Amino acid sequence: MVKLNENFGKLKKNYLFIEIAKRIKAYSESHPEEAKKLIRMGIGDVTRPLAPVVVEAMQKACAEMGVRETFRGYEDSGAGYDFLKDAVSNYYKSFGADVSADEIRISDGAKSDCGNIIDIFGSGNTVLVTDPAYPVYVDSNIMNGNDVIYADSTEENGFAAMPDRNVKADLIYLCSPNNPTGSVYNKAQLKEWVDYALENGAVIIYDAAYEAFITENDVPRSIFCVEGAKMCAIEICSLSKTAGFTGTRCGYTVIPNELILKDSAGSDVKLADIWARRQGSKFNGVSYPVQRGAEAVFTPEGQKQCKENIAYYQENARVIAKTCDELGIKYTGGVNSPYIWLKCPNDMNSWDFFDKLLTEIQVVGTPGAGFGKNGDGWFRLTAFGTHEATAEAMERLKGLLK
Ligand SMILES: *Cc1c(COP(=O)(O)O)cnc(C)c1O
Repeated sequence: MVKLNENFGKLKKNYLFIEIAKRIKAYSESHPEEAKKLIRMGIGDVTRPLAPVVVEAMQKACAEMGVRETFRGYEDSGAGYDFLKDAVSNYYKSFGADVSADEIRISDGAKSDCGNIIDIFGSGNTVLVTDPAYPVYVDSNIMNGNDVIYADSTEENGFAAMPDRNVKADLIYLCSPNNPTGSVYNKAQLKEWVDYALENGAVIIYDAAYEAFITENDVPRSIFCVEGAKMCAIEICSLSKTAGFTGTRCGYTVIPNELILKDSAGSDVKLADIWARRQGSKFNGVSYPVQRGAEAVFTPEGQKQCKENIAYYQENARVIAKTCDELGIKYTGGVNSPYIWLKCPNDMNSWDFFDKLLTEIQVVGTPGAGFGKNGDGWFRLTAFGTHEATAEAMERLKGLLK
């Protein structure tokens, strides 16, 4: 009889957003009038449309697909077209990270690569994840039967966990700017993680999905801005938040040529080679029109248009942060991130605060407890809404808590 992967039974039962949806549905059914006023500041999805240059590039590419001479089928390598890898490489160079086109693989987004990358690592690794964290890191490791240990991100360390030299980790997940806490690692802090990884023969999987939101100078846009990182880190990035590609799907993963590990027989193994082998067997690349759209993001006009959208969200983040300041609520994020991670007032727990906002002012956020044990008592608001809805939600919050 067929056997199942019973690791799935070890996953936490109620995925955060399912529970949130359930509570909203129950409230809406019992309070249909109030429910019309709901403002959603929970799910981390963008709302601004794609930049016009991106749409034009995709339309042009679609037209090419309809003509015999310019039609394209399978891409040779599935690693991404050179035009896009070159554009990403130049983008990295623009903020001081030396990443060559042959170290980049184009993907359909960061989530798949974050989840799939563990295929190239063996079993028995000590996997370290910061708590709280984006759920994919933990879930994908549990599905593969790996044990996960946690580095605590807390109010005391500004929700930016640092390495503990008494703990030996092999695989380390870092996300900066962080989802859900909006906190960031500055260059000195990232250097500490890189040094720790080099000392322990560990590999860092660095999720840079929010790099485009960074505004402060000492916060690196890439882990490869840090010396030594090319010998110990993989970076996973995405156009989802940078350019509104959540529904278009395109990302990229960088595995440096210097990242070489030893197998059990003592032979050198280039990590990029086995990732290429894995992707070659299980992934056939990103569609040509989407890659042309992605290429347009990195043109000067594309950068200008995408930055306008990011500035729109940053203005919302500023309004939320200002409201928290006025109400004396502690928070992280909002500066280099579309997320504000705030401490629930009056020592409420995350879900009670969620219910209070839902039922008393019809504002939906995300309970911090859903991202790990250190998230309890904390709450995430996102800046991805409209100016109008964000301002209205903040007025209601002031009315509730003042
Ligand atoms: C949104 C997000 C991503 C992007 O995922 P895609 O699959 O590229 O849409 C990656 N990591 C984190 C932490 C995110 O919040």
